[in-house]
Amino acid sequence: MALSNSTDLWVSELSDDLLRWYDLDHRQLPWRAASGGQVSAYKVWLSEIMLQQTTVKTVKPYFIKFLKRWPSILDLANASLDDVLHAWQGLGYYARARNMLKCAQTICVCYEGEFPSDKKELLKLPGIGPYTAAAIVAIAFNRLATVVDGNVERVISRLQMIETSLPKAKKEIYNHAKIMTPIGRPGDYAQAIMDLGATVCRPKKPLCHICPWQQACVAYRDGQPENYPRKSARGIRKFRYGAAFWLVRRDGSILLRRRPSKGLLGGLIEVPTTDWRDTPWENTDIFNSAPNGECWSRLPNVIRHDFTHFRLELIILCGTVDGRRNTDGLWCDFDTLDKYAISTLSKKIVGEVAKYSVKD
Ligand code: SF4
Repeated sequence: MALSNSTDLWVSELSDDLLRWYDLDHRQLPWRAASGGQVSAYKVWLSEIMLQQTTVKTVKPYFIKFLKRWPSILDLANASLDDVLHAWQGLGYYARARNMLKCAQTICVCYEGEFPSDKKELLKLPGIGPYTAAAIVAIAFNRLATVVDGNVERVISRLQMIETSLPKAKKEIYNHAKIMTPIGRPGDYAQAIMDLGATVCRPKKPLCHICPWQQACVAYRDGQPENYPRKSARGIRKFRYGAAFWLVRRDGSILLRRRPSKGLLGGLIEVPTTDWRDTPWENTDIFNSAPNGECWSRLPNVIRHDFTHFRLELIILCGTVDGRRNTDGLWCDFDTLDKYAISTLSKKIVGEVAKYSVKD
C-alpha cells in the first residue's frame, strides 16, 4: 500500500517513539533477547504456542521446564506424545501440545530441523496460524511481518478509535497495524507493541500518562479509551451435562480411559463419563452407559468445568467391581495418578472423590 509523505512521517515518528520506550522499559521474559538481539525460532515458536489463550505468568515456568527437557527442536521431535501431554498438564487446550509435537517432527523430517523464515511456508506447519507465523518471521528472523494479537488489537483500536466491533473489526485493525509496522527493527517493534498493550494500554485503567503514543491516541483525546475495542454483545452461554464413573476394583485400583487422539482433550487420560449432551441425563440412561460395576452411589456435589464454547456439569457416581469381571480401560493405582497426562476436568473429579474417601 502506498503511503503519502505525511502518513509516512507520522508512522515513522510513532515507531521511533515506541522503540525508544521499548529500549528503556521492555519486559524481561525467558523467551526474549535484549533489544536489538536475536532469539532462536524454536524459542519464539514454543513461547507463542504456549501463550495462546494463556497468561505470561502461567507460561513462564512451563517454557523454562520444556526448554530444559527438550533444548532443541530435534529433542522435542523425538519425545513421546505421552511425555509432551504430561509436561503440558495445566496449560489447557491440549490440541496445541499435539500439534506442537507434529510440527517439531515435520520440521525435522521436511526442513532439516530448521524453521522456514517465510510466512507461507510456516503456515503449512501443524498448529501455526497467521499470528504465530508473523511472530516467528518478525521476532526470530527480524523480517517485516504484521503481528497482531489481542494486545495489539486493543492498542490500535484505541489509537485510531475504531468504532467497528470485534470480531468484525479484525481486518480493519490489521490494515492499520500493517501500515504502522516499520521496515527497521520489525522484531523489536512487534514485541514493543505487544508490551505496550500488556503493560500500559491495559484493558482496564490504561496508563495513558506514561504511554509513548499518548499525543497521537484518538481514544485518549476523546476521554474514554476503555470503551475500545468495541465488542459485540456476547451470546448466551451453552451448557452440557453428563455423569462420571469412579469405579474401584477389589485391589483398590481405579478405572481410567484414554480419550480419542483427535478432538477435545484428545489423547489425555480421564475418568470415564457418559457422553456430554445438551439436557440433563435421566437416571436409567446413566446406568445404561455405566461401565460394568455395582453398588453405585452418587456424590452430593456437581463438578462444573468451563470449556471455550460451553460449561460442563457432571455428577459423579462411585461404584465397585469384582476383579474378575471384564471392564475395558486402564486400571491405575490411586497413588500413581500423577504419572499420567490427566485432564484438568478429571483432576477435579479425583479431588471431589478424595473428599469422601475413607483414609486408613
Ligand atoms: Fe492506550 Fe492510553 Fe496509550 Fe491510547 S494513550 S494507546 S489508550 S495507553
